[in-house]
Amino acid sequence: MENKFRFYNTLTRNVETIVPHEDGKIAMYTCGPTVYHFAHIGNLRSYIMEDILEKALRYVGYDVKRVMNITDVGHLSSDADTGEDKMLKGAKREHKTVMEIAQFYTDAFFSDCQKLNIKRPDVVEPATNCIQEFIHMIEVLLEKGYAYEAGGNIYFDAGKLDDYYVFSSAVEKEQLQIGVRDDVEEDTNKRNKNDFVLWFTKSKFEDQALKWDSPWGVGYPGWHIECSCIGIKHLGEYMDIHCGGVDNIFPHHTNEIAQSESFLGHKWCNYWFHVHHLNDKSGKMSKSKGDFLTVSLLESKGYNPLVYRLFCLQSHYRKPLEFSYEVLDNMTAAYNKLVKRISELKMEGGVDAAAFADYKKQFEDALCNDLNSSMALTVIYDLLKADISDETKLALVKDFDYVLCLDLIEAAENLKNESSNVDAELESFILEKIEERAQAKKAKDFAKADAIRDELLAKGVAIKDTREGVKWELV
Ligand SMILES: [Zn+2]
Repeated sequence: MENKFRFYNTLTRNVETIVPHEDGKIAMYTCGPTVYHFAHIGNLRSYIMEDILEKALRYVGYDVKRVMNITDVGHLSSDADTGEDKMLKGAKREHKTVMEIAQFYTDAFFSDCQKLNIKRPDVVEPATNCIQEFIHMIEVLLEKGYAYEAGGNIYFDAGKLDDYYVFSSAVEKEQLQIGVRDDVEEDTNKRNKNDFVLWFTKSKFEDQALKWDSPWGVGYPGWHIECSCIGIKHLGEYMDIHCGGVDNIFPHHTNEIAQSESFLGHKWCNYWFHVHHLNDKSGKMSKSKGDFLTVSLLESKGYNPLVYRLFCLQSHYRKPLEFSYEVLDNMTAAYNKLVKRISELKMEGGVDAAAFADYKKQFEDALCNDLNSSMALTVIYDLLKADISDETKLALVKDFDYVLCLDLIEAAENLKNESSNVDAELESFILEKIEERAQAKKAKDFAKADAIRDELLAKGVAIKDTREGVKWELV
């Protein structure tokens, strides 16, 4: 098929046309959540945009296979293998076992995804399912001389690579090589500062809950190895698109490439898609700072989770997005207005095939142009204003919502049903009042009859006595 989908590839620093290894098929990987806490809406921004990417690729005709890991072991509080074990931290906090924590927060993550209309990837694999595969990969890396044992742990030897900082420009590489990250404690076992742990046996986590036998002793895997291994396990030796948040670029994705390509002996993944941060006015929102924003918190404040989805779609994935409740209020109004406009469309006029094709092309072009989701939304606003039949408009909105997943048609139907319920209720109330007024007049209680007329008028209903009886209208 013709390849025309383009997005910014972090690896080449260019907007590029995606050319998959196999014609018409896309092998896509997403770094999944570390299931030790609820997902922050900032993390969910990445999953929303990756969901749109997957659906847009399917929309233009690709057969997409998408894989996601669930990190339930090995992720320390610093991505560079230092600090506390995140899962253990969660278990201690809640007086539960690590596996209970993993199950609870995995379920919570997918429940959030469902509320945000994020499709579950075709394959979801918890890291603890793949320990034997991790061990095999580490064995191969040791055999090939890309890994070494020190102090009981197995490390990847970044010094063996000609180009470790694959995502960085020449200038950035120089800075990275001389600069020392001040947030990282020195691990004296490492030969090079960028070496990272593939397998922990001796560590400061004596009470590590999950441990497995390995050729190097009882221990557990490092974090980075799981994505390489799970990706190769389910997508084969060639991956087309790897996604994540920008904070995954270094060290996580850098390390994934280092170990995968050393293991495979060839290039692994051609296109890297990264979503930028959600910020608040104070800067980056993270789990350690400020309000812990979750989907449930937004719901408890009365927000429809799909309004947050719309908020993400209104902005480009490569721009930082600034969150505030005020913006979310505006977005709620925009969503309701859009739904109301769609609810007013009638199933009439037939579908105009030429107009349908024209707007569909505009929508596709927006998606293919570096996933310009806000431009794709603009196409909806444009077509609603256009001089085309209501039925064509409805058909287009329905078609586009396959990608946008804002439940536009469903919400419009609900609104229509609600308003017809309100109408029915109002009508029976009016008829009741008219009857009451007739009784009052019969009893010559004119004051009461007038009071009833005024009461209806206050509700926007005018009544008129005619020869054919009492008539009413909304004023
Ligand atoms: Zn990953």
